[in-house]
Amino acid sequence: MELGWPCSLLKVSQSDMANTAITVARGDGIGPEIMDATLHIIQAAGARIDIEEIQIGEKVYLAGHTTGVDPKAWDSIKRTRVFLKAPITTPQGGGFKSLNVTTRKMFGLYANVRPCVAYHPYVDTKHPGMDVVIVRENEEDLYAGIEHRQTDQVMQCLKLISRPGCERIVRYAFEYARRNNRKKVTCFSKDNIMKMTDGLFHKVFDEIAAEYPEITNEHWIVDIGAAKLADTPNAFDVIVMPNLYGDILSDVAAQIAGSVGLAGSANIGGKYAMFEAIHGSAPRRAGQNLANPSGLLHGAILMLVHIDQPDIAEKVHNAWLRTIEDGIHTYDIYSEGVSKEKVGTKEFAEAVAARMGQKPEKLKAVSYSSRPNQSAASATSVRIPAKKDLIGVDVFLDYTGGTADELGAKLATCSTDALKLNNIAARGVKVWPDGFPDTLTGDNWRGRFLGSGIVTHQQIIELLGKVAGAGFDFIKTENLCNFDGQAGFTA
Ligand code: NAD
Repeated sequence: MELGWPCSLLKVSQSDMANTAITVARGDGIGPEIMDATLHIIQAAGARIDIEEIQIGEKVYLAGHTTGVDPKAWDSIKRTRVFLKAPITTPQGGGFKSLNVTTRKMFGLYANVRPCVAYHPYVDTKHPGMDVVIVRENEEDLYAGIEHRQTDQVMQCLKLISRPGCERIVRYAFEYARRNNRKKVTCFSKDNIMKMTDGLFHKVFDEIAAEYPEITNEHWIVDIGAAKLADTPNAFDVIVMPNLYGDILSDVAAQIAGSVGLAGSANIGGKYAMFEAIHGSAPRRAGQNLANPSGLLHGAILMLVHIDQPDIAEKVHNAWLRTIEDGIHTYDIYSEGVSKEKVGTKEFAEAVAARMGQKPEKLKAVSYSSRPNQSAASATSVRIPAKKDLIGVDVFLDYTGGTADELGAKLATCSTDALKLNNIAARGVKVWPDGFPDTLTGDNWRGRFLGSGIVTHQQIIELLGKVAGAGFDFIKTENLCNFDGQAGFTA
């Protein structure tokens, strides 16, 4: 559907101040309509931008580009470093890569920032006053995409957490809190179980929190933290968490604030940034002038702050709040008795544009200050690496030849002078020696071989030669190292 605003996607130069070039993609489904509406509103506020449009999404996928982006389009993002993206439709079936994951990885967009705000009483919510910002680590964790089928029965997905990755995201969260006058940063992790990966995230959180004494900090185990967030979101302010928990809980937080349809998000890297709505392309609503453009508009507001136009961001955000407060609502948030007028996408955008310069009277007006200090946010510490000593090896086996005791007896004969079989585990539970007979075993086993001191790679290769020679199908090995004398593996 053509909404017909002049110059909405043309190159525009609107003021004599220097314009910032941004890359824009209209996407699929409701994407073009909500992008038109968003650009109409920010241009009405005087956004100082030059727009470069690129093609992404379904048509590009179907034309044979597995990432959903025309290869030439990357050049525009590399040039402008700022990408405002409408939702896309990912075609059904295999072979298509997630455009979001590709973009995040390619441009190092390590921080996903998602403000989740309630607009009570104008948008229905069980949590009036909710105002939580989720800061999600965006590149690591289980999203590294390193998966293997190890045996007939067992699949593996590697969870990787790095110290620089933790430092960047945690520092970003504290810098965000400082800049936005937030009082508390909470860390969610599962370090009672994943003592090394989530343990590192928590440890780095504690270290960096100490550098921000004016900001309260706390840590919650993610399961009970999630329950508290769903029940009493007002107990939180900024929450920082690893990738997977952030993926799930940022949707929960947006929904309990009122609607996933209202939230926008920023994906921030050292050099590049991408801004979007959190919802999808809603194909059934496409082309009907029905969709709510507020999610993408909130993404655009985050973008305006990022490109150092806080004055415009503030004008747009306050005009939007005033529109919501005046009861001008799209179908998805329309409520009889609360709303005054049900409007379409275009009329909603015109209502916001008409309120430019106004502030809300009941809802809290927003104010924005100048741009984040990216260099401070991306700084990682310089450390002396720990002393690493190789002391053994875990050998993972695909084995269906007998019980744990039978496997133990056979595998022990593979021990060498340098490396002796210490124990065998199945799915992380010790089954030899002295295993519990009821422990469920399958075809995936881990034999742990330890030396009496430091061992060499050559000694591990000799051990593997014996393991293979005994007819075992070893599927992978994992070296066991001490770091500064501390075990770099779980017991
Ligand atoms: P969706 O978010 O598109 O829609 C879910 C529900 O919310 C639908 O009922 C829809 O009508 C409604 N809705 C969503 N946005 C709305 C808006 N702005 N105004 C009014 N109502 C709105 O999720 P889905 O249906 O699961 O996915 C549709 C497509 O979007 C899929 O191809 C999916 O892969 C894609 N998707 C893309 C992104 C992205 O580009 N970032 C994110 C999520 C889903």
